[in-house]
Amino acid sequence: MNIAYDIDIAVVGGGAAGLAAAVAAGRELSGRGTVALFDAQPRCGKKLLATGNGRCNLTNRSAKPSCYHTDDVQALSRVFSGVNVDDTLSFFETLGLICREEDEGRIYPSCGQASAVLDLLRLELARLHIPEVCGCRVEKIRRTEDGFLMSGSLGEIHAKSVIITCGGKAAPNLGGVDWGYDLLRSLGHSVTGLNPSLCPIPVQSPHLSSLKGIRSHARASIRDERGEIYADSGEVQFGDKALSGIVLFQLSSAAANVRSGQLRVELDMLPERDKEELIAMLNRRRVLLSHLTLENFLTGVFNKRVGMCILKEAGMTPLSRSVSELSDSDIRRISSVIKGWRFPVSGKAPWNSAQVTSGGVRLSEFDGLTMQSRRCKGLYAAGEVLNVDGICGGFNLQWAWSSGILAGRSCAHALVH
Ligand SMILES: Cc1cc2nc3c(=O)[nH]c(=O)nc-3n(C[C@H](O)[C@H](O)[C@H](O)COP(=O)(O)OP(=O)(O)OC[C@H]3O[C@@H](n4cnc5c(N)ncnc54)[C@H](O)[C@@H]3O)c2cc1C
Repeated sequence: MNIAYDIDIAVVGGGAAGLAAAVAAGRELSGRGTVALFDAQPRCGKKLLATGNGRCNLTNRSAKPSCYHTDDVQALSRVFSGVNVDDTLSFFETLGLICREEDEGRIYPSCGQASAVLDLLRLELARLHIPEVCGCRVEKIRRTEDGFLMSGSLGEIHAKSVIITCGGKAAPNLGGVDWGYDLLRSLGHSVTGLNPSLCPIPVQSPHLSSLKGIRSHARASIRDERGEIYADSGEVQFGDKALSGIVLFQLSSAAANVRSGQLRVELDMLPERDKEELIAMLNRRRVLLSHLTLENFLTGVFNKRVGMCILKEAGMTPLSRSVSELSDSDIRRISSVIKGWRFPVSGKAPWNSAQVTSGGVRLSEFDGLTMQSRRCKGLYAAGEVLNVDGICGGFNLQWAWSSGILAGRSCAHALVH
């Protein structure tokens, strides 16, 4: 047999979780064993470089289990008790990274460069003599008497322990693949349904094409037949066939975790006024602007094209009619659209538009204290390949760091003790 690599710990996947796991394992081993990091891409950390629009929203001050979707909240809490936000910031400080907190607890490198995060992790790998074996896809893995045997595109790899950090399906343009699920399945693990998350939400509406590119402040909610599932306020961006913006990303995270049913997005276009105040305001405008046509009835309240679409959605066509013709029931219909403009969800977003994968290998099949598999001794996993996805704002990288550091540290600890 041609064994190209014979090591103590093989980390499979050189993204955020894998880089953190390899560094943590190398530090814990402290020369008492060997680690190697394998990645299918020509370079490690491709996705990491794209995070936070190239600035890397490294973590969030308020990261806690309730900011995530998973099948095992208890295990998730254990992971965050093992490595929390402060531990993560200390970890990065020991690499030389200084961070700065911005709005809503979002933490970024002070230098504003995601590349600095990657550089410092890679420099630490070099200091620890951990090779990055790039262009090497691990295709198969099996348990042997003394560890694991993997077939990689560069030859066979033998390792006493393995940490799977292959990431998920999101953003295939940045290296997102589903290979990690297959590797873990082959070792006895199960995988939930997979859905794109933190992405624009595809919706149906006859008005979208005329609104393309417009941004408006709104309270957006995602609903099914039973009512509101999740809501958030912020800037909504109208796209050709989808609604976008950070607030919609947060909604997509909730939507990805709803099993069935017809979903719709509802926009409250004037969240700062209640319905009574809004009706009073529209009634005042009906008098004040009685000399205008309906086309301009909402000009000055909303972007003009948004205002016209709201009126069309309320059935006020043709807009060439006079404002003075509006009846009390017309005013109520317009106010209903303003407070709850409905957009039926038309399907799943493309994986290329998603930042994370909702779903993955069940977390309950791993020990949250160590990230070791409960089904296969010596096997560990971390990061997006597992069934944990967080909201937008640094939460997903925090999961990658916490689970990666914990997996690397405990895997190495188990080998030397
Ligand atoms: C555009 C974009 C922006 C984002 N911005 C943020 C942000 O600012 N903050 C935040 O918290 N989150 C952000 N995220 C999410 C975050 O990047 C991911 O949650 C995180 O990178 C997941 O880390 P990971 O190590 O688990 O997986 P990945 O980073 O996807 O790494 C997995 C690696 O495994 C390799 N691999 C897979 N299978 C194999 C195999 N069989 N053999 C060898 N190698 C393999 C892949 O090539 C890849 O390099 C963003 C995502 C995107 C797409």
